[in-house]
Amino acid sequence: MRELTNEYLEEAIEDSKPFASDGNVNMSLPTFDETMKDMLGVSIITPEKECYSAGDHKQYIPMQSTSKIIGLMLALQDFGKDRVFQAVGMEPMGDFFNSISSLEYHDTSKPFNPMINAGAIAVSALIKGQSPENRFKRYMDFLKDITDNDDLQISEEVYEAEKANGARNRALAYFMQSTGTLVTDVEEALDLYFRMNSVMMCCDDFARVGLFLARGGRSPREDEPLIPPHHLRTVKAIMMTSGMYNSSGHYAVEAGFPMKSGVSGSIIGAIPGRMGIGVIGPAIDKKGNSTAGGALVKKLSLDLGLNMFGVDRIG
Ligand code: GLN
Repeated sequence: MRELTNEYLEEAIEDSKPFASDGNVNMSLPTFDETMKDMLGVSIITPEKECYSAGDHKQYIPMQSTSKIIGLMLALQDFGKDRVFQAVGMEPMGDFFNSISSLEYHDTSKPFNPMINAGAIAVSALIKGQSPENRFKRYMDFLKDITDNDDLQISEEVYEAEKANGARNRALAYFMQSTGTLVTDVEEALDLYFRMNSVMMCCDDFARVGLFLARGGRSPREDEPLIPPHHLRTVKAIMMTSGMYNSSGHYAVEAGFPMKSGVSGSIIGAIPGRMGIGVIGPAIDKKGNSTAGGALVKKLSLDLGLNMFGVDRIG
């Protein structure tokens, strides 16, 4: 077993970087280009608030699908588990995260799970607030509390691009309206989804979200629970089974802790009681997961003994 230090993390970054060549940078994101391909950063924060980091950990990137776990926490808080899972399933899906056909052939009343696009759009329709602005403000306030970072903000450029390139997500949302899954205003649900995807964060922020999940939903500011632990168990279970899209089984076997990725190359990991992990590595594979980031979390799991199902390197 290795000791968690900044030096160890630098070494883990160097070992994992070559895997970036297996992926490609998502060029549909504004400011993303080939020069970002070899970027890789990590932060790990423990319950004692020790923070370890290495590589490009100060780089800000859009949350993209890592926002799906924040939306799910808020919807669970607002409506409870029964109502949320009337609108969305809790089963893993073997198709791509933006699959259209899976909505129709499986169960037309709800998408497979909250970690795919259709599921997250259905969940964003459940976030309470008097207006779209108010719903997004609740999302931002919650995120700022969790990350203890009042400077977090949306990238207007990314938000505009999400809207301009949102045809596929609109198709998913309008299909769900046609089947009665989405009963609120479709464009409002989509707008909130697009905004949530566009918030900029760095490794420390991603790691703090992981830590929030890992230590029972306690606010880093007040040290009071912001959300009941039973909702966090639900979120972590869904992350474990579906957080890495249709590679979730692979990551459950090879890393063995709840994670959520985004197509910006972001990964949030939560190791209950032990640490939150934030990774950025913009080169992603066809399924939408960071290639170098994925290699890194598997290495961390092995070296630091993070697999919740048991570790095989002792002493
Ligand atoms: N903005 C992307 C989309 O809505 C996010 C998807 C992702 O990170 N997998 O398709």
